[in-house]
Amino acid sequence: MDEGSKVNPKRTDLTGYTREEVEDLAVGLGQPRYRGRQLFRWVQARRVRDLGAMTDLSQAFRTVLGDHVVISRPEVTQAQRAGDGTRKFLLQLADGEEIESVLIPDDGRLTACISTQVGCPLACRFCLTGLMGMRRNLAAGEIVGQVLALQDALELGERISNVVFMGMGEPLLNFPQVERALRILCDEQGANFSPRRVTVSTAGHVPGIQKLAASDLSVNLAVSLSATTNGVRDMIMPINSRWPIATLLEACRAYPLPRRRRLTFEYVMLDGVNDSLEDAKRLVVLLRGIRCKVNLIPLNASPDLPDRPPPRDRVEAFQVILHEAGLTATIRESRGWDISAACGMLRVQRGKA
Ligand code: SAH
Repeated sequence: MDEGSKVNPKRTDLTGYTREEVEDLAVGLGQPRYRGRQLFRWVQARRVRDLGAMTDLSQAFRTVLGDHVVISRPEVTQAQRAGDGTRKFLLQLADGEEIESVLIPDDGRLTACISTQVGCPLACRFCLTGLMGMRRNLAAGEIVGQVLALQDALELGERISNVVFMGMGEPLLNFPQVERALRILCDEQGANFSPRRVTVSTAGHVPGIQKLAASDLSVNLAVSLSATTNGVRDMIMPINSRWPIATLLEACRAYPLPRRRRLTFEYVMLDGVNDSLEDAKRLVVLLRGIRCKVNLIPLNASPDLPDRPPPRDRVEAFQVILHEAGLTATIRESRGWDISAACGMLRVQRGKA
């Protein structure tokens, strides 16, 4: 048991335990292995937190469990709905820290966008979470717990279909807990997300990309590139001075892609900073030979951020250049703009209130 898996230091948080760990726990408590699998199903597939309701487990086992485990869930303290159906949640953790998760309906999908850290140490110039600084990593149970809490908040018949690790924090700086959360969410005895429907987004942490590539997780990778020269990228994403563009793209080229899958490059567009037609042309050259799509994201502005989004026609001209070069490029419509749903916005607003 590692530190991150515990909410209460004396008790195991089952929400953050992989199926294998729950099975080991059952065996450790004198039960057959399959009892652990049943317990995992109660927690992850049925989302039940009350041991008393787990009727196919013996009363004796449930009593011992009661002494050893908790089944944590972040508490929804605020929920907002934007005109376009995007729902944004402020969640409180056991130690009082707050994080954000977002539900985005799109094209028949319902995507949960979840956080991996409280705050973030990377300080990207356009990101509000960065302004908070780093507070702490989330435990696996707090990452998985966001998906379970959001699913609980849905109406009957609504089901989360996709999960993106694009909320607060840099997932690859919290690799061990993110990896466990991915295994739990994709377990067929649990929530059973296909890895095709799960995406980890990184600001460009190269060793983390390599670890993800070497794992058997097979989830989608999104990389926040947002510049085409090291000069500009150093300025807006300080992580670039550690792993510059060429090093980052080399790691991307080495990422094993199953057939018919592609990497995603996110490109946050800042007026007069990274939005020129020369940038678009350089981007085409940089991405040559990488099976990918580009997601252009006009900055979600805030009074706390120094930049502005480019005028719409510049965003579209940028997209045209990518299209003409044969790249797939979409413009992310600012989902949930009326509830400030960009990374870190709700948490930061609340911090001021
Ligand atoms: N640290 C990870 C995941 C969190 S950020 C990463 O960098 O990918 C998720 C996405 O939101 C990134 O593409 C980031 O560039 C983008 N983003 C952050 N702040 C934004 C803002 N104010 N407007 C638009 N996109 C933003």
